[in-house]
Amino acid sequence: MLQVNITTPPHVKWAAGQHYIIRFLNVGIHAFSSHPFTVASIPSANGGKNDLELVFAVHGGITKRLKDAVEGKPSKALKVWVDGPYGGPPAPVNQYDHVYLVAGGSGVTFTLSLLRDLVRQMNNAKGIKCSHVEFILAVKSPDTISWMENELAGARDLGVNIRLHVTQGYDLNEEKTEDPEAESIDDKPKVTQTVALGRPDIPAIVHQACRSNIGSMAIAGWSYRLGMSF
Ligand SMILES: Cc1cc2nc3c(=O)[nH]c(=O)nc-3n(C[C@H](O)[C@H](O)[C@H](O)COP(=O)(O)OP(=O)(O)OC[C@H]3O[C@@H](n4cnc5c(N)ncnc54)[C@H](O)[C@@H]3O)c2cc1C
Repeated sequence: MLQVNITTPPHVKWAAGQHYIIRFLNVGIHAFSSHPFTVASIPSANGGKNDLELVFAVHGGITKRLKDAVEGKPSKALKVWVDGPYGGPPAPVNQYDHVYLVAGGSGVTFTLSLLRDLVRQMNNAKGIKCSHVEFILAVKSPDTISWMENELAGARDLGVNIRLHVTQGYDLNEEKTEDPEAESIDDKPKVTQTVALGRPDIPAIVHQACRSNIGSMAIAGWSYRLGMSF
Protein backbone atom coordinates (compact mmCIF):
# COMPACT_ATOMS: atom_id res chain seq x y z
CA MET A 1 0.00 0.00 0.00
CA LEU A 2 1.15 3.52 -0.75
CA GLN A 3 0.67 6.54 1.48
CA VAL A 4 0.23 10.12 0.26
CA ASN A 5 -0.19 13.11 2.59
CA ILE A 6 -1.77 16.26 1.20
CA THR A 7 -1.31 19.32 3.40
CA THR A 8 -4.33 21.60 3.21
CA PRO A 9 -5.13 25.07 4.63
CA PRO A 10 -6.91 25.11 8.05
CA HIS A 11 -10.32 25.92 6.50
CA VAL A 12 -10.40 22.56 4.68
CA LYS A 13 -12.54 20.25 6.81
CA TRP A 14 -13.97 16.81 6.29
CA ALA A 15 -15.71 14.21 8.43
CA ALA A 16 -14.52 10.70 9.22
CA GLY A 17 -15.35 8.30 6.38
CA GLN A 18 -15.52 10.95 3.63
CA HIS A 19 -13.58 10.86 0.38
CA TYR A 20 -12.06 13.33 -2.06
CA ILE A 21 -11.69 13.15 -5.81
CA ILE A 22 -7.99 13.68 -6.54
CA ARG A 23 -6.07 14.58 -9.67
CA PHE A 24 -2.31 14.21 -9.50
CA LEU A 25 -1.01 16.89 -11.85
CA ASN A 26 2.58 16.05 -12.69
CA VAL A 27 2.24 12.41 -13.65
CA GLY A 28 1.99 12.48 -17.45
CA ILE A 29 -1.18 11.13 -19.06
CA HIS A 30 -2.66 10.25 -15.64
CA ALA A 31 -2.98 13.96 -14.86
CA PHE A 32 -6.18 13.88 -16.95
CA SER A 33 -7.97 11.36 -14.75
CA SER A 34 -9.56 11.87 -11.34
CA HIS A 35 -9.66 9.21 -8.65
CA PRO A 36 -11.68 8.92 -5.44
CA PHE A 37 -9.78 8.21 -2.23
CA THR A 38 -11.11 8.03 1.32
CA VAL A 39 -9.24 10.14 3.85
CA ALA A 40 -7.73 7.91 6.54
CA SER A 41 -6.99 10.91 8.79
CA ILE A 42 -9.37 13.24 10.62
CA PRO A 43 -9.01 17.04 10.78
CA SER A 44 -6.93 18.38 13.67
CA ALA A 45 -8.99 19.31 16.74
CA ASN A 46 -7.22 22.65 17.33
CA GLY A 47 -7.68 24.22 13.90
CA GLY A 48 -4.13 23.94 12.57
CA LYS A 49 -3.01 22.67 9.16
CA ASN A 50 -4.70 19.46 8.15
CA ASP A 51 -3.13 16.55 6.37
CA LEU A 52 -5.35 14.51 4.08
CA GLU A 53 -3.80 11.09 4.60
CA LEU A 54 -4.50 8.82 1.64
CA VAL A 55 -3.53 5.17 1.75
CA PHE A 56 -4.10 3.10 -1.32
CA ALA A 57 -3.62 -0.25 -2.94
CA VAL A 58 -1.42 -0.21 -6.03
CA HIS A 59 -3.20 -1.22 -9.25
CA GLY A 60 -2.13 -0.60 -12.85
CA GLY A 61 -2.95 3.07 -13.53
CA ILE A 62 -2.28 6.21 -11.48
CA THR A 63 -1.53 4.20 -8.36
CA LYS A 64 1.24 2.28 -10.18
CA ARG A 65 2.56 5.51 -11.70
CA LEU A 66 2.75 7.08 -8.22
CA LYS A 67 4.46 4.02 -6.78
CA ASP A 68 7.08 4.16 -9.56
CA ALA A 69 7.55 7.90 -8.94
CA VAL A 70 8.37 7.47 -5.24
CA GLU A 71 10.16 4.13 -5.29
CA GLY A 72 13.62 4.41 -3.72
CA LYS A 73 12.93 7.94 -2.47
CA PRO A 74 11.90 8.77 1.11
CA SER A 75 9.42 11.35 -0.22
CA LYS A 76 8.46 13.25 -3.34
CA ALA A 77 6.41 16.45 -3.65
CA LEU A 78 3.47 16.31 -6.05
CA LYS A 79 0.94 18.86 -7.23
CA VAL A 80 -2.64 17.78 -6.74
CA TRP A 81 -6.10 19.04 -7.49
CA VAL A 82 -8.59 18.11 -4.77
CA ASP A 83 -12.40 18.07 -5.00
CA GLY A 84 -14.64 17.23 -2.03
CA PRO A 85 -15.34 16.05 0.54
CA TYR A 86 -18.07 13.62 -0.49
CA GLY A 87 -19.93 10.71 1.06
CA GLY A 88 -19.39 9.36 4.56
CA PRO A 89 -21.40 7.03 6.77
CA PRO A 90 -25.20 7.50 6.63
CA ALA A 91 -25.36 8.21 10.40
CA PRO A 92 -22.75 9.13 13.03
CA VAL A 93 -21.54 5.85 14.50
CA ASN A 94 -20.85 7.43 17.91
CA GLN A 95 -24.62 7.45 18.59
CA TYR A 96 -24.82 3.64 18.83
CA ASP A 97 -24.13 1.50 21.90
CA HIS A 98 -22.13 -1.06 19.91
CA VAL A 99 -20.00 -0.22 16.88
CA TYR A 100 -18.44 -2.76 14.49
CA LEU A 101 -15.96 -1.38 11.94
CA VAL A 102 -15.22 -3.97 9.27
CA ALA A 103 -12.78 -3.67 6.36
CA GLY A 104 -10.46 -5.59 4.08
CA GLY A 105 -7.15 -4.27 2.69
CA SER A 106 -7.28 -0.64 1.59
CA GLY A 107 -10.91 -0.43 2.79
CA VAL A 108 -9.26 0.31 6.14
CA THR A 109 -9.03 4.00 5.21
CA PHE A 110 -12.79 4.23 5.81
CA THR A 111 -12.88 2.31 9.10
CA LEU A 112 -9.61 3.77 10.45
CA SER A 113 -10.89 7.32 10.09
CA LEU A 114 -14.07 6.33 11.95
CA LEU A 115 -11.94 4.63 14.63
CA ARG A 116 -9.68 7.69 14.96
CA ASP A 117 -12.76 9.86 15.42
CA LEU A 118 -14.25 7.53 18.04
CA VAL A 119 -10.94 7.31 19.92
CA ARG A 120 -10.67 11.10 20.04
CA GLN A 121 -14.20 11.31 21.43
CA MET A 122 -13.56 8.49 23.92
CA ASN A 123 -10.49 10.38 25.15
CA ASN A 124 -12.55 13.55 25.53
CA ALA A 125 -15.41 11.49 27.03
CA LYS A 126 -18.08 13.66 25.46
CA GLY A 127 -20.68 13.38 22.70
CA ILE A 128 -20.29 9.64 22.53
CA LYS A 129 -22.82 6.95 23.30
CA CYS A 130 -20.97 3.79 22.35
CA SER A 131 -19.44 1.64 25.03
CA HIS A 132 -18.25 -1.21 22.83
CA VAL A 133 -16.17 -0.95 19.63
CA GLU A 134 -14.86 -3.80 17.48
CA PHE A 135 -12.31 -3.08 14.74
CA ILE A 136 -12.22 -6.01 12.32
CA LEU A 137 -9.63 -5.95 9.57
CA ALA A 138 -8.64 -8.50 6.92
CA VAL A 139 -5.14 -8.09 5.45
CA LYS A 140 -2.89 -10.26 3.29
CA SER A 141 -0.02 -9.97 5.78
CA PRO A 142 0.40 -8.28 9.18
CA ASP A 143 3.24 -6.10 7.76
CA THR A 144 0.68 -4.08 5.84
CA ILE A 145 -0.66 -2.59 9.07
CA SER A 146 2.66 -1.55 10.62
CA TRP A 147 1.93 2.11 9.77
CA MET A 148 -1.11 2.13 12.07
CA GLU A 149 0.16 -0.13 14.85
CA ASN A 150 0.58 2.67 17.43
CA GLU A 151 -2.92 3.87 16.83
CA LEU A 152 -4.38 0.40 17.14
CA ALA A 153 -2.46 0.00 20.40
CA GLY A 154 -3.94 3.31 21.63
CA ALA A 155 -7.43 2.11 20.69
CA ARG A 156 -6.81 -1.21 22.45
CA ASP A 157 -5.88 0.69 25.61
CA LEU A 158 -9.33 2.26 25.53
CA GLY A 159 -10.94 -1.17 25.32
CA VAL A 160 -11.48 -1.40 21.55
CA ASN A 161 -11.43 -5.01 20.35
CA ILE A 162 -8.96 -5.36 17.47
CA ARG A 163 -9.65 -8.45 15.36
CA LEU A 164 -7.09 -9.05 12.67
CA HIS A 165 -7.67 -11.63 9.91
CA VAL A 166 -4.60 -12.59 7.91
CA THR A 167 -5.42 -14.14 4.56
CA GLN A 168 -2.04 -15.28 3.18
CA GLY A 169 1.14 -17.07 4.35
CA TYR A 170 1.09 -16.46 8.05
CA ASP A 171 2.02 -18.72 10.94
CA LEU A 172 -0.42 -18.20 13.78
CA ASN A 173 1.99 -19.89 16.22
CA GLU A 174 4.47 -17.04 15.76
CA GLU A 175 1.93 -14.50 16.93
CA LYS A 176 1.48 -13.86 20.64
CA THR A 177 -2.26 -13.38 20.88
CA GLU A 178 -2.78 -11.10 23.84
CA ASP A 179 -4.66 -12.48 26.76
CA PRO A 180 -7.33 -9.98 27.76
CA GLU A 181 -7.28 -11.04 31.39
CA ALA A 182 -3.48 -10.84 31.67
CA GLU A 183 -3.40 -7.28 30.36
CA SER A 184 -6.25 -6.07 32.52
CA ILE A 185 -5.05 -3.81 35.35
CA ASP A 186 -7.60 -2.95 38.06
CA ASP A 187 -10.34 -0.85 36.55
CA LYS A 188 -8.56 -0.14 33.23
CA PRO A 189 -10.33 -1.43 30.11
CA LYS A 190 -9.33 -4.90 28.99
CA VAL A 191 -6.82 -4.99 26.18
CA THR A 192 -7.90 -7.33 23.44
CA GLN A 193 -6.43 -8.38 20.16
CA THR A 194 -7.12 -11.54 18.28
CA VAL A 195 -5.44 -12.78 15.13
CA ALA A 196 -7.15 -15.35 12.92
CA LEU A 197 -6.16 -16.98 9.67
CA GLY A 198 -8.40 -16.50 6.65
CA ARG A 199 -11.11 -14.05 5.68
CA PRO A 200 -13.59 -12.95 8.34
CA ASP A 201 -16.98 -14.63 8.13
CA ILE A 202 -19.08 -11.46 7.94
CA PRO A 203 -22.53 -13.14 8.23
CA ALA A 204 -21.28 -15.02 11.33
CA ILE A 205 -19.91 -11.77 12.84
CA VAL A 206 -23.23 -10.01 12.27
CA HIS A 207 -25.17 -12.97 13.66
CA GLN A 208 -22.98 -13.13 16.76
CA ALA A 209 -23.20 -9.36 17.25
CA CYS A 210 -27.01 -9.47 17.08
CA ARG A 211 -27.15 -12.36 19.54
CA SER A 212 -24.75 -11.01 22.14
CA ASN A 213 -25.45 -7.26 22.26
CA ILE A 214 -28.25 -5.38 23.94
CA GLY A 215 -28.94 -1.85 22.72
CA SER A 216 -28.37 -0.11 19.40
CA MET A 217 -25.69 -1.34 17.02
CA ALA A 218 -23.87 0.07 13.98
CA ILE A 219 -21.90 -2.07 11.54
CA ALA A 220 -19.87 0.08 9.16
CA GLY A 221 -17.52 -0.87 6.38
CA TRP A 222 -16.57 -0.17 2.83
CA SER A 223 -16.12 -2.18 -0.30
CA TYR A 224 -14.10 -0.35 -2.98
CA ARG A 225 -14.83 -3.22 -5.36
CA LEU A 226 -18.56 -2.70 -4.96
CA GLY A 227 -18.10 1.07 -4.63
CA MET A 228 -20.33 1.21 -1.57
CA SER A 229 -20.29 1.68 2.17
CA PHE A 230 -22.52 -0.31 4.52
C1 LIG B 1 -15.57 6.51 -2.95
C2 LIG B 1 -14.30 5.73 -3.20
C3 LIG B 1 -13.26 5.81 -2.28
C4 LIG B 1 -12.09 5.10 -2.51
N1 LIG B 1 -11.09 5.15 -1.58
C5 LIG B 1 -9.98 4.37 -1.73
C6 LIG B 1 -8.97 4.33 -0.73
O1 LIG B 1 -9.01 5.04 0.29
N2 LIG B 1 -7.89 3.51 -0.93
C7 LIG B 1 -7.81 2.72 -2.06
O2 LIG B 1 -6.85 1.98 -2.20
N3 LIG B 1 -8.75 2.76 -3.01
C8 LIG B 1 -9.83 3.56 -2.89
N4 LIG B 1 -10.79 3.59 -3.85
C9 LIG B 1 -10.53 2.89 -5.11
C10 LIG B 1 -9.59 3.78 -5.97
O3 LIG B 1 -10.27 4.94 -6.39
C11 LIG B 1 -9.12 3.01 -7.21
O4 LIG B 1 -8.46 1.86 -6.78
C12 LIG B 1 -8.15 3.87 -8.00
O5 LIG B 1 -8.85 4.91 -8.64
C13 LIG B 1 -7.45 2.99 -9.01
O6 LIG B 1 -6.61 3.82 -9.80
P1 LIG B 1 -5.70 3.17 -10.96
O7 LIG B 1 -5.62 4.19 -12.08
O8 LIG B 1 -4.40 2.71 -10.41
O9 LIG B 1 -6.62 1.95 -11.38
P2 LIG B 1 -6.59 0.95 -12.61
O10 LIG B 1 -5.36 0.10 -12.56
O11 LIG B 1 -6.87 1.68 -13.89
O12 LIG B 1 -7.86 0.06 -12.20
C14 LIG B 1 -7.88 -0.70 -10.96
C15 LIG B 1 -9.28 -0.74 -10.39
O13 LIG B 1 -9.67 0.59 -9.94
C16 LIG B 1 -10.91 0.97 -10.57
N5 LIG B 1 -10.81 2.41 -10.91
C17 LIG B 1 -9.96 2.97 -11.79
N6 LIG B 1 -10.15 4.29 -11.87
C18 LIG B 1 -11.19 4.57 -11.01
C19 LIG B 1 -11.86 5.74 -10.66
N7 LIG B 1 -11.56 6.93 -11.20
N8 LIG B 1 -12.87 5.65 -9.75
C20 LIG B 1 -13.21 4.48 -9.18
N9 LIG B 1 -12.59 3.31 -9.49
C21 LIG B 1 -11.60 3.36 -10.39
C22 LIG B 1 -10.99 0.13 -11.84
O14 LIG B 1 -12.34 -0.06 -12.22
C23 LIG B 1 -10.36 -1.18 -11.40
O15 LIG B 1 -11.28 -2.00 -10.70
C24 LIG B 1 -11.95 4.30 -3.67
C25 LIG B 1 -13.02 4.22 -4.60
C26 LIG B 1 -14.17 4.91 -4.36
C27 LIG B 1 -15.30 4.78 -5.37
